[in-house]
Order: sequence, then structure tokens, then C-alpha cells
Amino acid sequence: MKVGFIGLGTMGLPMAQCLLRGGLEIVGWDSNPRARQQFDATAESIEQLARDCDVFITMLPEANHVTEVIDQLLGHCSESGCLFIDCSTIDVESTRKVSTRLSDKGHGFVDAPVSGGSEAAANGALSLMIGGDGTDIERARPLLVTMSAKLIEFGAAGSGQAAKACHNMICGITALGVCESFALADALKLDLDKFFQLCSAAAAQSWILENRCPVPGPAPAAPASNDYAPGFAARLMAKDLGLAQQAAQTAGQATEFGAAAARRFREFADSGAGDLDFSAIYRVIRK
Ligand code: NAD
Repeated sequence: MKVGFIGLGTMGLPMAQCLLRGGLEIVGWDSNPRARQQFDATAESIEQLARDCDVFITMLPEANHVTEVIDQLLGHCSESGCLFIDCSTIDVESTRKVSTRLSDKGHGFVDAPVSGGSEAAANGALSLMIGGDGTDIERARPLLVTMSAKLIEFGAAGSGQAAKACHNMICGITALGVCESFALADALKLDLDKFFQLCSAAAAQSWILENRCPVPGPAPAAPASNDYAPGFAARLMAKDLGLAQQAAQTAGQATEFGAAAARRFREFADSGAGDLDFSAIYRVIRK
């Protein structure tokens, strides 16, 4: 298989590099020339990539980007028999529509949103949430396995995105809890290094706390210790929490804390801080 990888951003670039290191034949594309320069094996154009490849992986910000790129690919790839793997985080409904559209044309589709951040992407240690038809998943498996440490199949197309929305709602709610507790610890004049040491080794431990500690210092590799460079941009956290709210409304399940987290991160992202890591919301909470 020859794989076209579209979206060489914070996550896509290390994922594509990981696949390349894994010995797979990969050609990359990004609409941003600066992103293209970061990758060793880029196509001359997306049309060229579509003609040359039979498997396509998308890692794009939002549903409209995924739809736009799939439209471009469909205009130039083989008429049938291609496989599309979408690793972006987008809504369940758009995913189902894309899947039906591709299947009507005789192409396969797998939704495979990821968790783990750019570090896990670089190390092939992502967790993948998979939705799709069994035959398509088997075809995608060598790629999925190379990128991941854990791969969980949830069922039909769209179910990977449903799992991702629920998962990220936990992350958003946890992030606010961690920020608020560090704000209080600071206001109570606790030593925040010691507080971090305590929480990392006690019941408050979480991936968010250890990897996205919101105050500069205690975790040197965390975005907070590096001017809040993402990491996971606040605009993407706001988007994901919005997707969870969309899913909650469709399913008729109340999600009080998820709704509060969605509102807070949306306000924060819209205040001009959208490109900072989500943990930068600490600055607003501490005030
Ligand atoms: P990003 O903004 O860093 O990268 C997205 C890339 O897509 C950019 O380089 C952009 O130029 C490119 N792009 C946008 N529209 C395009 C188009 N029409 N054609 C070609 N390229 C296009 O985003 P990211 O952080 O890499 O996230 C990508 C997806 O992964 C999002 O859906 C996000 O929610 C999800 N995600 C991100 C993380 C994370 O930690 N960053 C973790 C898990 C999941």
C-alpha cells in the first residue's frame, strides 16, 4: 500500500514520521507550505498524492477540513477500492455521512481518532478509538498498529468518534479541576512543586495533572513550563468539548460538568488564547 497522509500539524507530522520509520511508504501533504517543509516525503500537490496513493490518512482540525480534503482526493484517486482513515477529532454525524458517501463509491472508511498528544504520536504510543467495517479495519490494521500502543474497536463507523467525545469530556473536566486546585493551593501559599509531587503520587494523579500541570515549573516538559506552547491547543479543547455537547444532546444525556467545561474553554479560546495550550486557562482561573 502507498499511503497519503494529509495534515502535517502538531499531531500529523509526528504520526507520519512514525509511519515512515516503521517502513511504510508514506507521502505527506498539508495546505500550509511551512508544515510541508517539516516532512521529508511530501507530494507536489494533493492531486498528485491522490493519484499516487490507495490509502489516505487525514489528521485535520475540523469536520469541514476533512470533508474538503476528501472531496479533493475523490476527484483524483482511483474510482473505487481506496481506503480512507480519518484520525482527526470530528463529530459523529459528519463521520457517518463521510463513511456512507465513500462506501457508496466503493471505498473503505475507518474513523480512528487518537489520544495521547504529540509525544505519544512521535513514539507510536497513541491510543486509538476505532469505528468501521471489519474488512476496512483489517486493511488499516498495519498502519493503526504502527501508530498506537492501544487500539480499541467500538463498532460501526462513527463509534470511534463517539468514544473520543466521551473521553475528551473527562480530560476537559479534569483540566478545570486541576487548574482550580492549583489556583487554590497557590492562593493558600503552598509550595506548588511540593503540591505537584503530592498529587502525582496520590489519589489526585491523572495524565492531565502529570503531563499538563498548569503552572510553570513543577513539570519541566509541560506546556506551562514552555510559555504554554501546545500541546493541545485551547481552541481544539473547546472544539472537542463542543462535540461532546453535540453528542450529549443527540443522545438525550445531561452532562452538567461537561457543559460547564465546554463553556469555559470556548470563552477562553475566543478571548484570543486559542493557540495556547489548554492548560493556559489556569491564568484566568487564578485571577
Ligand atoms: P494542527 O492545527 O496543529 O494541525 C492541523 C494541520 O492541518 C495544519 O498543519 C493545517 O495546515 C492542516 N490543514 C488544515 N486544513 C487543511 C486542508 N484543507 N488541507 C491540508 N491541510 C490542512 O492540529 P493538531 O493538533 O495536529 O490536531 C489535528 C486533529 O487531531 C484535531 O482534530 C485535534 O482535535 C486532534 N487531536 C489533537 C491532539 C493534540 O494533542 N494536538 C490530540 C488528539 C487529537
